[in-house]
Amino acid sequence: MESKEKCEIHNLALQLMQVPVGYGLPLRDPVLQEARRMLFPHSKMYVRGGCIANSMGSYAEALVCAKCREAEAAWRKDNHRERSMEI
Ligand SMILES: [Zn+2]
Repeated sequence: MESKEKCEIHNLALQLMQVPVGYGLPLRDPVLQEARRMLFPHSKMYVRGGCIANSMGSYAEALVCAKCREAEAAWRKDNHRERSMEI
C-alpha cells in the first residue's frame, strides 16, 4: 500500500506497514539518533509504544521507506564493525 508521503532522503513513496511496537526502548545512542535523522528517517524498525502501550498491541501501522531500512541495515553493519575494532 502506498501513501502520498515521500521520503525526503530517497524520494520514495512511504509504505504503510505493520511495525513491531517497542516498549521501554528509549533511543539513547546519540550517534544512531543523528545517523537516523540524516540517513534513514523513515526506517521505522519499531515504533514507540509509550503510555498507550496497552491499547496498541504488538504491532502498529507506520509509514516506512524501504531504502531507509536498507540504509539503516548497512549503517548498523558498519557501525558494529567499527565498534568491534575498537575493542
Ligand atoms: Zn528513505
